Amino acid sequence: MAQSSVLGYPRIGKQRELKRALERYWAGEADAAALQETARAVREAAWRVQFQAGIDQIPCNDFSLYDHVLDTICLVGLVPSRFGSAEPEVSLPTYFAMARGAPGVPALELTKWFDTNYHYLVPEFDAPGPRLASAKPFLEFAEATSLLGRPAKPVLLGPISLLLLGKYHQRPLREHLEQLLPIYQEVLERLARAGAEWVQMDEPVLVQDRSDEELQLLRAAYRVLGEASARPKLMLQTYYGSLDDASWDVVMSLPIEGIGLDFVRDDGNRALLNRHGFPQGKVIGAGVVNGRNIWRTNLVEALEKLEEIAEHVEPERIWVQPSCTLLHLPHDVRLETKLPAAVRALLAFAEQRLEELVILTRALNEGRAAILEELEQNAEAFRLALDEVRVYRRDVRERLAALTEDDFRRQSPYEMREPLQRARFHLPLFPTTTIGSFPQTPDVRQARARWRAGKLSDEDYWGFIRERIAEVIRRQEEIGLDVLVHGEYERADMVEYFAEQLEGFVLTEHGWVQSYGSRVVRPPIIFGDVARPRPMTVEVSRCAQSLTEKPVKGMLTGPVTILNWSFVREDIPRREVAYQIALALRDEVRDLEAAGISMIQIDEPALREGLPLRRADWPEYLEWAVRAFRLASSGVRDDTQIHSHMCYSEFNDIIEAIDALDADVISIENSRSRGELLQAFQEYRYPRQIGPGVYDVHSARIPSVEEMLELLERALAFLRPEQLWVNPDCGLKTRRPEEVWPSLSNMVEAARRLRARF
Ligand code: GLN
Ligand code: ZN
Repeated sequence: MAQSSVLGYPRIGKQRELKRALERYWAGEADAAALQETARAVREAAWRVQFQAGIDQIPCNDFSLYDHVLDTICLVGLVPSRFGSAEPEVSLPTYFAMARGAPGVPALELTKWFDTNYHYLVPEFDAPGPRLASAKPFLEFAEATSLLGRPAKPVLLGPISLLLLGKYHQRPLREHLEQLLPIYQEVLERLARAGAEWVQMDEPVLVQDRSDEELQLLRAAYRVLGEASARPKLMLQTYYGSLDDASWDVVMSLPIEGIGLDFVRDDGNRALLNRHGFPQGKVIGAGVVNGRNIWRTNLVEALEKLEEIAEHVEPERIWVQPSCTLLHLPHDVRLETKLPAAVRALLAFAEQRLEELVILTRALNEGRAAILEELEQNAEAFRLALDEVRVYRRDVRERLAALTEDDFRRQSPYEMREPLQRARFHLPLFPTTTIGSFPQTPDVRQARARWRAGKLSDEDYWGFIRERIAEVIRRQEEIGLDVLVHGEYERADMVEYFAEQLEGFVLTEHGWVQSYGSRVVRPPIIFGDVARPRPMTVEVSRCAQSLTEKPVKGMLTGPVTILNWSFVREDIPRREVAYQIALALRDEVRDLEAAGISMIQIDEPALREGLPLRRADWPEYLEWAVRAFRLASSGVRDDTQIHSHMCYSEFNDIIEAIDALDADVISIENSRSRGELLQAFQEYRYPRQIGPGVYDVHSARIPSVEEMLELLERALAFLRPEQLWVNPDCGLKTRRPEEVWPSLSNMVEAARRLRARF
């Protein structure tokens, strides 16, 4: 019989219990026992709901108090020496010190997990000798198994992914691997002794381009693990994309019992399967429902995929699965009582995915006839939506179809715009500015909450926002910044603010997804054609500009970032959604210009993170991403200055795309890097203006004039003086006013001192 299987379940809790418990623990308001109790309850709830749904293969050890890569780092004892001397078992304080840092001890580096909005902590391979230093998988296996009354399926991050996601390798990769493998063997042996039948080994790095050498390591690693004396069966699980010919060959010949594949993301695995078939006797994990997006599965289409797979593998050896862990989905659609019914009927969060898996498994085992009713309901939801949801907008489609190359181009090239803008703005050398947001103090958040709850009138709320704008303009003038901002007090979040106002978007109430640790985000859902019913930012910008002679930057979130930080419809290509958002922003940009705003910043911090996992797919993405930005930004006069903020990115390999954005000024995070970032711009002979951040906004520290001056001097090793702007790394939203104002004063002073030398 085919089985249903889950690879991982959301772990923040339906009511965000884990987030709250973590924050209480960190604040010293609750002890470790209270935190562990909440964690246990969250795990138990996940197991129960999967059990009750009828899932056959229920995962354990997919839970984490902070991050599953950190858990694996602890499992193999890769604790860097700055966190103290080795403990036999990594303690909770050490665990959180690695996650969040401790006084004087920097945390492990946090970075993006593949192409998701999840973040993981980076393993450091120069840490002292690896060893088994956590009992977490054994404890959670025992816990799950006693609750379920049958063995759960422990999930481990596999050794190859752990190795390749890490940094500071001191020796050849093979030697590091040789140190890891005995630990993995021991873990497998202990799990086998405890009664585990299967272990899921996650190896997501296999869907990225891998060298022959890396594939050899994979072969070697699983040969060793396969030979462990007593071990559970191994399900090697890949996700977020497909294997390629080379990795397929290696993976299919490993001495393991199962291979899990993503059949949702693209057609790669399907083509490989049809070309090569599947090895005799192994289980295939058939990822046919989407673990990355929130749309209800079209059951007929998923069933067709399964039936095609069943031409190569007999049903007894098929596990019907999501394409990846369900970590990237919110818990339960049924909590969303305020969504339009027809939209809600189209959604499936983690809990709804379970039902889909069980239905599909039944169909595979008993034939389509067994699920006729479910198929009918499923089809009905899609029909209803078509009738009732305003997905399609003729005006938007016609406008898109009528676009010409001119719509993607400024009137003149940068070289001609630059002198016009110089003449208009009379900025000093090294102009000073900020990235947009100023501290969102408790009173700002409270006012917004009261306004949303209907306890504060529109008039009072906007009156309050206008007061804050007036104050922030006055203070920016006082300390002598050259280019001002309005402070973004009206925005809780840079994407949500626009999603709330654009048609084609809905927002959820409880659609929280873990970003890392206790951080959760609630991505908007793009369900239909995007249109802008009315201006979104013109009032606040006009208000701010009316209070000062200095230029105030209009402040927008770019099309690619809005797209990448939302759940996106799948019935049209992403590029088209990006262009639709871009058109709405283009109108906003023009309205800002018409309202007298002379500089407009369009933030694209998510441009780089949208890059596909395989390099061969980069050019296509970059082409439409750049065009979307240009569509949004190019409808202005030559002497209107377009800015963009890119946050922290590695620019070396996408510098052409950055240049192609044709923004007049960009700002980037730079205060923690030693100029490596800027070198790329120099080598490329990047012609435009850049503000490399000199103030680390992720720290409460107030940087001195001297250190910022030094960063600016360093930047001048790579940039011409006329190119250099002076600004913080990023927005100041999460900082406190008493940190921000002295820091900015110092920044202005640093720019003055530098100017004095020219
Ligand atoms: N303009 C935004 C702000 O200042 C940019 C935030 C970001 O880059 N993530 O908050
Ligand atoms: Zn930023």
